[in-house]
Amino acid sequence: MIIALTKTNEYIQAGDNKAQLLKDLICPSCGKRVFLKKGESKIPHFSHHPKEACKVFTEGETREHLEGKLALYNFFKKKGYKVKLEAYLKNLNQRPDILIESKKKL
Ligand SMILES: [Zn+2]
Repeated sequence: MIIALTKTNEYIQAGDNKAQLLKDLICPSCGKRVFLKKGESKIPHFSHHPKEACKVFTEGETREHLEGKLALYNFFKKKGYKVKLEAYLKNLNQRPDILIESKKKL
């Protein structure tokens, strides 16, 4: 996962420089603590404690998956769309990788 919630209820991206300075980051879905992981093999991302199960946020996303959703996020944002990464949809209990708001009625 790329998005976590701060103590002050703001969403933060794992790639944001502020992310490594913040403590007590939590999962937007289950409210449990998540940790920032930065390494050579993957882009920065958040991870739950290994023993804690989270039904909504999947872990172990591949590097291609993480990079892919970030690339799409940046692409649609540049095009002027309202786009959210890993928005947790409470009423559906789902967390799509990317949520894009369409101006047109579908
Ligand atoms: Zn969680």
